[in-house]
Amino acid sequence: MKTSVDRVSYYQELLSNSSYFKLVCGAGNEDANEVKQLTYIYTLAGCNGFDVSASPRIVTACMEGIDNAIKISNRIFSPITNRPIITVSVGMPGDHHVRKAFITDSCIKCNLCIPSCPTDAITNSLDILENLCIGCGNCESACPSSINAINYKHDFKELKQVLPQCVLAGAESIELHAGVPNDETTLEEWLTVCDSLPHGMLSMCLDRYHMSNVHLLERIQMAHKYAGERLIIQADGIPISGSKNDFNSTLQAISIADIINKELKLKDRKFRKLPILISGGTNMHTGNLARQFKVPFSGIAIGTHARKIVKEHLSSIVIGEENVALHHAVNAANELIENNLRGIKNNQNKPNNSLLELFE
Ligand code: SF4
Ligand code: SF4
Repeated sequence: MKTSVDRVSYYQELLSNSSYFKLVCGAGNEDANEVKQLTYIYTLAGCNGFDVSASPRIVTACMEGIDNAIKISNRIFSPITNRPIITVSVGMPGDHHVRKAFITDSCIKCNLCIPSCPTDAITNSLDILENLCIGCGNCESACPSSINAINYKHDFKELKQVLPQCVLAGAESIELHAGVPNDETTLEEWLTVCDSLPHGMLSMCLDRYHMSNVHLLERIQMAHKYAGERLIIQADGIPISGSKNDFNSTLQAISIADIINKELKLKDRKFRKLPILISGGTNMHTGNLARQFKVPFSGIAIGTHARKIVKEHLSSIVIGEENVALHHAVNAANELIENNLRGIKNNQNKPNNSLLELFE
């Protein structure tokens, strides 16, 4: 049985070898059955980290997915020697990862938002199921632009209470989504996160939606002051935007990682070993694009795209049983992981000419 110190070392080793792949189930995804299925499939596929909503019920579902995968792996897949790391995600008010959409009285009932939702959270009677809403904003984009029929509320959680419960349920790491401009409130929340897990790895997820490059680097310095060597930065290109599987969608994720590498890690010794996870628009091409442009990374976190490629198989998979759907889903997930962390043979993911033209 590994101790928590061993587990932190294991996590740090994955990061320092650039071999960490995290499936993001969604900070707002409170569908326990889906989380269990996703973590089952991705554990079998070789995924070594999961990011789930900060809810003890969801952490338990994630633990069950992992446990079941370990059991079946001994029979039909490669045995799993290390359990994936479970991270729970929380967020600042205003951050897209922790908002829930709702439909206002301005709605003209055109139904255009229904097919745009990646999680099927919008019912035919135009109710939004909160436990399924991940705050992506697709419904708002689909809504006729001038009517403001979609609005958002913060998915509030009492962190001082809920985080220790998540840790008891099996969470080993905490992530704060801090893509908001206010430093003071972010620091307050960050200190709560640091106190809730005094010896584990802590991640801060940042994007440039509200922050300049200078502000971004200052925010990282602030986070490091309190978390020290336990800090991981999740560099979020465009939050929750990985629905397309092309190079352009993943460009901003590489770009923000590049800024942190050049302006902080290379310039300040203190940050030389700071782990950077690339996220936000990540897909099948992310690792290859980063390698192509020589942007180092410690790991890759994928949500929307990773969930999308196995979605069609979920209804046919029965946990603990082997069937064709399970093999298809595990193969698709494994290809995504291998492609990102190691690249594939035959250079199939070489950027195409139009991408290269973009950089000329
Ligand atoms: S489209 Fe995105 S923001 Fe809108 S209801 Fe669905 S998950 Fe929520
Ligand atoms: S797209 Fe906008 S106006 Fe149309 S049904 Fe959805 S919320 Fe209502």
